Amino acid sequence: MHGPFRAQGWRARLLPLGWRRWTLWLLLAALVLVMLGIMVYLAGRYEASQVQSRLERDTSDALSDIRGGLTRNVQSLQALQSSNPTPSSWTIDAAEMLRQHRELMRIEWRDAGLHTLAHVDTPYRGKLFGRSGAEGPGGRDRAQTDVALACANARRFNGPAYSSSYFVPSSDGLGLEVIEMCLPLISSGRIAGYAVATYALQEVLANLVGRQLARSQEISFTEADGTRLALHGSARRGVRMFTAQQLLDLPGNTLVLRLDSWHSAPSLFPNVMTALVTAMAIALVSVLVLLAKDTRRRLAAERDLADALAFRKAMEDSLVTGLRARDLQGHITYVNPAFCQMVGFSAEELLGHGVPAPYWPPDRVTEYEQRQAIRLAGNVPPREGFESVFMRKDGTRFPVLVIEAPLINAQGLQTGWMSAFLDISEQRRIEELSRASQERLQATARLATVGEMASLLSHELNQPLAAISSYATGSMNLLRHQGASAPPDLDMALRRIAEQAERAGRVIKSVHDFVRRRDQAREPVAARALLEAIMPLVTLQARKLGVRVITDIEPGLPEVLCDRTMVEQVLLNLARNGMQAMEPCELAQRVLRIEARKAASNESSGWLEWRVIDHGPGIPKEVGEQLFTPFFTTKAEGMGLGLSLCRTVVEQHGGYLGFEAQAPRGTIFSFTLPVKKGPSPEAAVAVAVTAAV
Ligand code: ADP
Repeated sequence: MHGPFRAQGWRARLLPLGWRRWTLWLLLAALVLVMLGIMVYLAGRYEASQVQSRLERDTSDALSDIRGGLTRNVQSLQALQSSNPTPSSWTIDAAEMLRQHRELMRIEWRDAGLHTLAHVDTPYRGKLFGRSGAEGPGGRDRAQTDVALACANARRFNGPAYSSSYFVPSSDGLGLEVIEMCLPLISSGRIAGYAVATYALQEVLANLVGRQLARSQEISFTEADGTRLALHGSARRGVRMFTAQQLLDLPGNTLVLRLDSWHSAPSLFPNVMTALVTAMAIALVSVLVLLAKDTRRRLAAERDLADALAFRKAMEDSLVTGLRARDLQGHITYVNPAFCQMVGFSAEELLGHGVPAPYWPPDRVTEYEQRQAIRLAGNVPPREGFESVFMRKDGTRFPVLVIEAPLINAQGLQTGWMSAFLDISEQRRIEELSRASQERLQATARLATVGEMASLLSHELNQPLAAISSYATGSMNLLRHQGASAPPDLDMALRRIAEQAERAGRVIKSVHDFVRRRDQAREPVAARALLEAIMPLVTLQARKLGVRVITDIEPGLPEVLCDRTMVEQVLLNLARNGMQAMEPCELAQRVLRIEARKAASNESSGWLEWRVIDHGPGIPKEVGEQLFTPFFTTKAEGMGLGLSLCRTVVEQHGGYLGFEAQAPRGTIFSFTLPVKKGPSPEAAVAVAVTAAV
């Protein structure tokens, strides 16, 4: 096929295509990897931001916890003073309050001049400040300035105020960061005294902040520069730290509350979503790998297909058998180059062509259409094929052998018919040739037999002929001895017998020589002498058949150089054929003419032409074609060898034997003989012999 399958082109395009395909695959894989990376990174970041915002939320919670706790404590302190206590009753209530609030280290009741009226220390720790009013590192006096400052602020705010934090070393070598809170006690509109509470910052964190907050993170108070004042919470886990800090704004002091949270980040799978994304990515990569494998298989299949196509094309192009496919409607769907060459049409002219096909001979269209209808009805043609005749584009016809088979597609359905064509014209020609040569061989074999027979006959006949001749001579001698009593006609007849016997002997010898292919003895003979030699026999037959014979010899003819006996036989044969041909004619028309004249060709001086003209029915064309074929005859008792022999004899002399039609009817047989070089001894006399009926 020329159109759809161009396998070579396919292959050529396959290489760069493969290259491009691979780069595409690499690009795809890179894109997928980048996308996955980004997704994992984003998922991680998302999770980090989640953790961070939770931490911020926790910090705010912690902050409000602390604020709430502090406010509640302020209220409790105010409650202590509400029942106008004495220092001793105040102490009992204050001790009870300290038992409940672990964040409080000490509560003092001071008068308006900041002198301590009563104080209570927390029962959970050893004395933090040593004895009251004592000097020294743990001494309460050291804190006096902080307390005074806080109370000054409290006075100003007319509410609770806090001091800045400071470190109180304890007797066990450790220490505490504490903060003072001063609450002015108002009595009848003026400040009657102060309640001073000392908070341990660490205990504030431990007791005021919700437990669940401290469980997973570290809570601390820091100064603005980051110095850590107090710390509470679990030990650090993981490597990645998240931090959130917020200001605890207290009247008179500002602390920074900081939450630290440790996570095992950066982990590869920070949470389920990332794990999901990663799983999806792995699935995607697996699909990619599978796809790549599939593509490789496809590529291999494509290559195989291209190879198969190229192979098929090469096979089709090298075929000498014509191939043609038709669909079920009889349209041509495929032709191979051999078929195109066979019918002389191009593939474009044939493809899609329906009925009648352009290569059907017009006079056979109906027959072929019937044949096709039978085929399309689903009848399977003979497996060995059938013969048909197609017409080339130039109009010439040729025989083909057609082998048809149903065309089955991949689904097992019949889609049309596939036909193979063999141009059998060459085969026919060879068959014809071999038949002709067979016939020629048979004829030659028969000729050889005839030759053998002739040679045998001539041998066998020689003896009786010699006997006839000597008897005739003997009889003539006897007659002469008898003298005048013998009738003169008898003597003449005997002489003729002797002559003819001698002639028969010569004929036999000539035939013998001819058959044996010996060089015939050529001799110069005058035309008239040749004619005279056969005239007695011609006359004899003419009388029998009722034919008038006219001879016409041109005067002044030169002698010819020939095998006299054989040429006489030729003349005799032609004359006899002519007379026999006129048998069915009316008597008046039975005229045979024998002429001798100089040949009319250019080199005419060298040749002499004999013509034997009859007025018979003439020679039909089909008879004329086989006239010189040995054993061809139309006569019941004929041998069919006469003309063939005549031609051989004439051609052996270098002459030509042919025939033509004679107007209005009859045939002219003519042959040429070579003239003897040199002057003619013959007198120029015209002779006309007429044999009457
Ligand atoms: P034969 O005479 O034995 O048949 P020939 O070779 O002499 O063999 O002649 C072959 C055939 O040629 C004859 O049978 C005859 O049909 C045809 N033929 C020969 N000469 C003539 C003629 N002058 N006119 C018509 N037919 C002739």
